[in-house]
Formats: sequence, C-alpha cells, structure tokens
Amino acid sequence: MTPLPFTRPSIDEDTIQSVAAVLRSGWLTGGPKVREFEAALSAYLGGRPVRSFNSGTAALEVALRLCGIGAGDEVITTPLSWVATANVILNVGAKPVFVDVDPATRNIDPERLQAAITPATRAIIPVDLAGLPVDRDQLYAIARSSGLRVIEDAAQSMGACWRGQRIGSFGDLICISFHANKNMTTGEGGCLVLADESQIPLAEKLRLQGVVRSPDGGMEVDVAGGKFNLTDIAAAIGLGQLRQLESFTARRRELARRYFERFDRTLGCGLPVANFTDSNWHMFQILLPLGRLRISRGEFLERMRAREIGVGVHYPAMHLFSLYRAMGYKQGDFPHAEKIGREIVTLPLFPAMQDADVDRVCVAAAEILREAQG
Ligand SMILES: *Cc1c(COP(=O)(O)O)cnc(C)c1O
Repeated sequence: MTPLPFTRPSIDEDTIQSVAAVLRSGWLTGGPKVREFEAALSAYLGGRPVRSFNSGTAALEVALRLCGIGAGDEVITTPLSWVATANVILNVGAKPVFVDVDPATRNIDPERLQAAITPATRAIIPVDLAGLPVDRDQLYAIARSSGLRVIEDAAQSMGACWRGQRIGSFGDLICISFHANKNMTTGEGGCLVLADESQIPLAEKLRLQGVVRSPDGGMEVDVAGGKFNLTDIAAAIGLGQLRQLESFTARRRELARRYFERFDRTLGCGLPVANFTDSNWHMFQILLPLGRLRISRGEFLERMRAREIGVGVHYPAMHLFSLYRAMGYKQGDFPHAEKIGREIVTLPLFPAMQDADVDRVCVAAAEILREAQG
C-alpha cells in the first residue's frame, strides 16, 4: 500500500510556474508579489487591511506588541494549542494565564474566562483548534465587558467561518499561519488582519527592524522591530493557494463527513464536533479510550504507522512543559486539556486524499483498537 501522510500540501502547476517566474524576476524578497498577496488576502477577508509575515508566530508577536502588551501584563489563552500560542506571550514579557477547554469543542471554555480575568489582564488569545471556531459571540461579549483586546490565534482557521462569517473578516486582531501543514501555505508564513488603516504603519515598523523611511531617503528607528517579512517567492505560493482555498475547504468537509460515516462508533473513541458549515476541518482528531485499551497511545501510533498511515499528536497540554511548570503550572490545573492532550490522535486529512483513504484509516483504526480491547 502507498504510504498515507497525515497531511500534505496540494501545489498545482500554475503555482510552481509562478514561483519560477519570481525566481527569474531578480526580485526575491518582499516586493510586488507580497503586495499582491496582501491585497488578495484582504479581498478574501472582507476588505480589512492585511499584512503578511514570515510565520504565524511573528504575526502573533506583532499583534501583542501592537496592543502595547508587555511586562506586568497577563494574557489569557488555552493550554491546548501549538506552543507558539503561549511562547509569544512570554516573548513580549507578559504572563500567559491558561483557562481550561470545553471537552466538547476542545477550545478554550468561554464559561471559564471571566474567573481568570484580573486587573492585569490585557487580552485573550483564543485558538480555533483543528479549525473549529471558538464561540465568537461569547468571547467578544466577555472581552468587551472587561475592556480586553482579542488577538485571535486563527493559525488553523483560514477558510473557516463563525455563523457563516469568515474568520478574519470581523473581530479585533486576527493572526493566521501559512505553515506547510495549514489549510493553505506559503511554505512558512502568516498574516495579521488589522482593524483599520491606522494600525498599518506600526505593524510594518514592527515587522522589519523598526525602520521608518522618509521620502527624502532618510531613515528613523524608535523601536527594535523584528525580521518578520515574507518573500515574494512565498507570496507567489500563497497566491496560488488562495485561489484554491475554497475547493480545499469543500474537499476537507467532504472527507470529514466520510470519517463520520465510516468511523466505527462502537470503538468508544471521542469524535470531533460534527460541524460541516463553519469548521474548515484543518484536522480530524479522535480521542482514544485509553482506559479500555491494553495499549498506550504510543503503541496505537506505532501500529498505524506500521500500516503506513500517518498520524500525529496535536497537542499535549502545554502548561505541563517544563517551561510553564517553572511558572507554577502543574498536573491537575486543567483536567480537560490534560485528558485530551493524553488521548488525542490526528488522523490523515488533506484535500488530495481519496475517499478510499478515509476508509482505509477507519478499517486500520478499528482493527487495532478492537484487538487492543481484547
Ligand atoms: C501553526 C500554529 C501557530 C504558529 O504558526 P507558524 O506559522 O508555524 O509560526 C500558532 N498557533 C497555532 C494554533 C498553530 O497551529
């Protein structure tokens, strides 16, 4: 059988040609393609200003700095995400304050937010895990009533919606990733959706060393910015991906539906929320019924991989990493995130997958789990 990865980007021939054209153009770093890509992203996201970055992490860090968040400030986020989400809070000198997830959505539990807000809280960073959007109505109601900024870590949410409205087309600041594993990619890259034009100069300044150029050829620097700019090579990939994004999302939804049809419910696995309208199905993730199995998650992963089926873990609860334990977080602080972090497995899902691939994954998982229940 051919190996099935857990994800794989789909790059069409037009995109490859457009990258070759950039390589031949003599201009490789940020230039005309970056500006074209930013305009296309803005058009896709309802017209709000968008600036590109060389990673989603960079977009998050600049968003925090745009809000003036730093030492002495607290930022609320979920413990169940890629560690970038909390690392950026530390990197600007602020304190990440974790709030447990809702076990149904696996996203930060809006009901628990209020209790975590202190006088030092400045912002909330929600994450749409696997592309299932956090409840924006509840989130923004709480943020508004407490005067907090919302920096959406929508790294996984490109193409997703909240009640039919595109993620990134409304809200405060929205950060999206174009890492190779995301629903659309630039290889590495990301973007930040700004609320209005007035934020553009500072976002651009923080993106490139803090430099501001004047028309007379002069230059001024009053803040140490980062080195966060995207290349035209990457932007050309992004333009090709954006053209296909709607079809990618539609195909992901079809494949997710097929998982629900084919995955054996009697195995006792936890399935994701069956949302086929708003979620972009960045990942299809099951929870293993470890209490009923004679094998560990590691053994399950190994047995799937032995059948050449790619699987992954996204993510262990990050407050249990030694970096965050050193800040006082410990086992037992966020029981839902910890349990999901122990049990979660990402199954293959990407636009080029065939229906038969889904069936093969479901059969393999069923055989392995049934044998392990013994
Ligand atoms: C991918 C991801 C990031 C970081 O994006 P990069 O482009 O890899 O820097 C941040 N948060 C979440 C939830 C992600 O999935």
